Amino acid sequence: MRISAIRTYQVDLPLREGSYRWSGGNAVSVFDSTVVEIEADRGLRGYGEVCPLGPAYLPAYAAGARTGIAELAPQLLGLDPLDLGHLNERMDAALRGHPYVKSAIDVACWDILGQVAGLPVCTLLGGRYGESFALYRAISQEAPAEMARRVAQYRAEGYTKFQLKVGGDPDTDIERIRAVRACLRPGDVLVADANTGWRQHEAIRVCQALRNDDVYIEQPCASYEECLTVRAHCARPLILDEVIDSIGVVVRAIADRAMDVVNLKISKVGGLTKARQIRDLCVAQGIALTIEDTWGGDIATAAIAHLAHSTPPALLFSSTDFNSYGTRTIADGAPQRAHGRLAAPTSVGLGTRPRLAELGAPVLEVA
Ligand code: MG
Repeated sequence: MRISAIRTYQVDLPLREGSYRWSGGNAVSVFDSTVVEIEADRGLRGYGEVCPLGPAYLPAYAAGARTGIAELAPQLLGLDPLDLGHLNERMDAALRGHPYVKSAIDVACWDILGQVAGLPVCTLLGGRYGESFALYRAISQEAPAEMARRVAQYRAEGYTKFQLKVGGDPDTDIERIRAVRACLRPGDVLVADANTGWRQHEAIRVCQALRNDDVYIEQPCASYEECLTVRAHCARPLILDEVIDSIGVVVRAIADRAMDVVNLKISKVGGLTKARQIRDLCVAQGIALTIEDTWGGDIATAAIAHLAHSTPPALLFSSTDFNSYGTRTIADGAPQRAHGRLAAPTSVGLGTRPRLAELGAPVLEVA
């Protein structure tokens, strides 16, 4: 089988809540997403999606994804989309770094692999565990009372896991965390995600203040070394996210006992092929995972669901469905949240069928 054409589409994904705010005064109201279509023999088509969380979150931005795909695409024509190892080697040789550029291409080839095998991607990634898995709800950074109000609202919809966007003024953040914790019940999971926003001394203050509160601390500071120092002063479980961008960092972090949970975003590490390696390494070492992506719509949500649903439940800390946050449906067949839980599609491949009218004309076609 050979790749005969690669097309990219640009789609805007507006948010139901109007905007999404996190540390450092960052906010996004309309996400700029890129869908990749890979065409192979017999008209087979696979789809992947990449959607950075704006340009200020990770070394990734929406136009960069499309520029990088335009750079790579001509070098991938003629390759076998089923040979995912070889495909990834070729992408890494042709374009150093830039894992997010490669992610949607890799996912689209997994979609084709599933269609050819007659199996859901979830089965190919290790097999489905149980009927569904729990999602977390991200709570945009607002005043403490407003964040507590939103948590109560989403709790009523069935969510039991909440990720607060903190990383602002440490005293206000302590208030935010306590205001929300007061709304929760035993068994509910609360994560305070600073998204690199605290300085080391601020993070240590927050951790010390909350030493007896039931909360996980996520990515307190920008650098790995700062986070490691905070870890030494923190009585709460620690999650690393932004600094975990390759399997090499995970190996180092496991050796350093740097975290209890890894937030694994598919595009941050370059696609499902590499995300699965990291997932399997963490599972083997007893490190739990939040499995998600930087952002996206129905296709990104489907890819997340396949990886999450094939992860042992004891080590799947949480996951995300981005199509609950947006107003626009770009594909049919994507998993839909029910009572704060999600399930990977049971049909072949990713199980999603893009709405071509929503995607519009391709912004790039290489054939
Ligand atoms: Mg995070």
